[in-house]
Amino acid sequence: MEKKEQLYEGKAKKVFATDNADYVIVSYKDDATAFNGLKKGTITGKGVINNKMSNLMMQMLEKKGVPTHFEKEIDERNTVVKKVQIVPLEVIIRNVAAGSFSKRYGVPEGTKFSAPTIEFSYKNDDLGDPLINDYHALALNLATAEEIDTIKKMAFAVNEAMIEFFKKLNIDLIDFKLEFGRFNGQIVLADEISPDTCRFWEAGSWDTTKHVSLDKDRFRRDLGGVEDAYKEIFKRLTGE
Ligand code: UDP
Repeated sequence: MEKKEQLYEGKAKKVFATDNADYVIVSYKDDATAFNGLKKGTITGKGVINNKMSNLMMQMLEKKGVPTHFEKEIDERNTVVKKVQIVPLEVIIRNVAAGSFSKRYGVPEGTKFSAPTIEFSYKNDDLGDPLINDYHALALNLATAEEIDTIKKMAFAVNEAMIEFFKKLNIDLIDFKLEFGRFNGQIVLADEISPDTCRFWEAGSWDTTKHVSLDKDRFRRDLGGVEDAYKEIFKRLTGE
């Protein structure tokens, strides 16, 4: 498929048209942002790792019956995906308290939940992606009740598959963010699954305050070893 004009540039990716109206090419950058764009930086090699890792995750999930936007990896940074209409919700699944959950509800990081939890943010940079509930999403016409139901079921199914997958790599899946899109009237998993969008802790380290992060928290919190953490995750995934 031929790469045509740039349609969009986001914080971590660019999106290009192709010669087929049903597909676009996403191109992963090394740019990193945090705190709604307030903190900016570069994580050398991140684009390559996130592209390949996200594609591996999408293919793993397809095998488990989760429909995704993934079509074909072109090269290190570029992938053909279905051109979806993004549902403007950030869907966050959590297995262990961390980040904004810990801050908002006064729960120490590393507190394991008896069951996974889900939350939605309204994808809107000007408003700072505010936390909303299902009824807000309906009132704002962000999705239909049926779509929200499908999204929840898919998000928990993704969680189950990913917990299992990462357990084998000696990594605890703490939390992650998903985005969904509409393609031919069907809800499919879109965007990316990478250390930018997930919290990965070295297995067994989460029940202490000294957990070892292998994800973007190393950038957000200035913990050092950012590139090495991305490389380490990728090495466990692929052996490369
Ligand atoms: N997350 C994300 N994009 C966002 C906000 C959160 O990918 O704009 C991911 C984040 O990497 C983490 C999970 O969603 O794995 C939960 O993040 P949290 O709400 O705790 O926010 P944070 O502490 O990152 O501000």
